Amino acid sequence: MECPECHSYHIHKNGHRKSKQNYICVKCGRQFITEYQQRGYSDDVKCNCLKMYVNGMGFRAIERITGVSQDFDYGLG
Ligand SMILES: [Zn+2]
Repeated sequence: MECPECHSYHIHKNGHRKSKQNYICVKCGRQFITEYQQRGYSDDVKCNCLKMYVNGMGFRAIERITGVSQDFDYGLG
């Protein structure tokens, strides 16, 4: 479990929100629920997309093949 903001592992449980476990990052104060981290695509899928991207494939083609939206934030910038 790491903070989605600063990636610190210094996380404390912070009660529940809508029956989901709520956490707070001790380092930056960011609050998040466990489901937050499960949103989006798995690292495997992201890795695959990035491989295609660096091989010169456009995001539109990647979307066709993998189903990953071209609007998805790859963390490239
Ligand atoms: Zn944090």
